[in-house]
Amino acid sequence: MAQAREPQALIDVHIHYSQDAWAMLPPPEAIKVLRQAGLKKAFVSSSSDDGTQMLLKIAPDLIVPVLRPYRRRGETGTWMRDPSIIPHVQSRLEANTYAGIGEFHAYGADADTPVMRRMIELARERKIFLHAHSDADAVERMFKHDPQALILWAHSGFEQLETVRAMVTKYPTLWADVAHRNDQAPSGNLDPAWRQLFMDFPERFMVGTDTYTPERWHYVVEHASYSRKWLSELPPDLADNIAFRNAERLAARTLGQ
Ligand SMILES: [Zn+2]
Repeated sequence: MAQAREPQALIDVHIHYSQDAWAMLPPPEAIKVLRQAGLKKAFVSSSSDDGTQMLLKIAPDLIVPVLRPYRRRGETGTWMRDPSIIPHVQSRLEANTYAGIGEFHAYGADADTPVMRRMIELARERKIFLHAHSDADAVERMFKHDPQALILWAHSGFEQLETVRAMVTKYPTLWADVAHRNDQAPSGNLDPAWRQLFMDFPERFMVGTDTYTPERWHYVVEHASYSRKWLSELPPDLADNIAFRNAERLAARTLGQ
């Protein structure tokens, strides 16, 4: 007799719980949404980091904390030239445990500023990853500063598939999430070229929703279903890798678990 399959275990690596979401969705409600989506874990970062800490406190089994360098919304385009970011990041790193620093935004030469370089050093000292919303150029610059950097490439940089392929080929410690892009499964079904990329690099890709505005929280459960659907078209081992194992391994590596 055929048995009903358990729903695909899933880790969402791209959740934000920023200040403007706190009133609409207080911490217990936010956790409820993540549980409704059936997530095994969620990588969470927020502006300010207090949002992440609130969720971590009530659901330590579920939340993988990532330190966003922004203290408030609106620092996306200026932080890499703002030296006051460094003492802020440092004091948070000393006070709490994080799997990574990010998600931050940096394009091209943004990755060369003294603030950015210092942040790459701070990640290296702690052997934690950088969650970078960056073009391929900025990612290349980050690896120039630290060839051993662990980089989780947000949205796979919104780059073309062939660029993503070239980057994961070149850098063995580059992982990529496919958050907020749907070319991997444009009509809900897996795109053949992406399927081949996943087959060729089974340990590098992860899924994420990206709740960059409070309204995006309404989409977390639906996004989990969407991910489960296209993942089901892959061989089970590969589906598990992309769905949760790659994320689990990266978290274990950086949190030392
Ligand atoms: Zn994001």
